[in-house]
Formats: sequence, structure tokens, C-alpha cells
Amino acid sequence: MYRMREKAYERRRLESQKTGIGESLMSDLIKMPKSKFIRIMCKKCRKDQVVYNKPASVVKCLSCGEELLIPTGGEALIKGKVIEFLG
Ligand SMILES: [Zn+2]
Repeated sequence: MYRMREKAYERRRLESQKTGIGESLMSDLIKMPKSKFIRIMCKKCRKDQVVYNKPASVVKCLSCGEELLIPTGGEALIKGKVIEFLG
């Protein structure tokens, strides 16, 4: 459920970038399917941090300890808010 919401959010963001002022490098990076690192924001304390896309264990917010990424065997379940993909 969460992932679908994140995807919708991501699509919306891409669209706003297309119509937005100046295309950033970021839009190219987002198209890459093999993103390894993502910057996500903790929904609790709003601190952002860069995390690995496929962690071996649960990634917690460095600031408040909230769970940000939960490994599922494949792609991790993202619980924070994705800000950008770093490739
Ligand atoms: Zn936090």
C-alpha cells in the first residue's frame, strides 16, 4: 500500500518537474531503474538521510529512531518519504 502511494507521489513530482522551471539532473537519475541510494525523509521528525535501497536490516532514522526502510528480500519497503534517487 505504501509503495503505491510513493509511486503516485513520485509520478506527480516528475510531472511537476517537466513543467517546472529548468530541468534538473535529478529527473534523469530518477528514470534509472537501478537506483541504489535514496534520500528519504523521516515522516516523524522530517530529517532526511541517504539510505541504501536494499538494506540487510531495518534502517532507522538517525535522529529519532523511526523506521525508514524495512528489508523484504527484494526491494525494501519504504516507510519514509522519498525525496530523491541518487543512483
Ligand atoms: Zn526521525
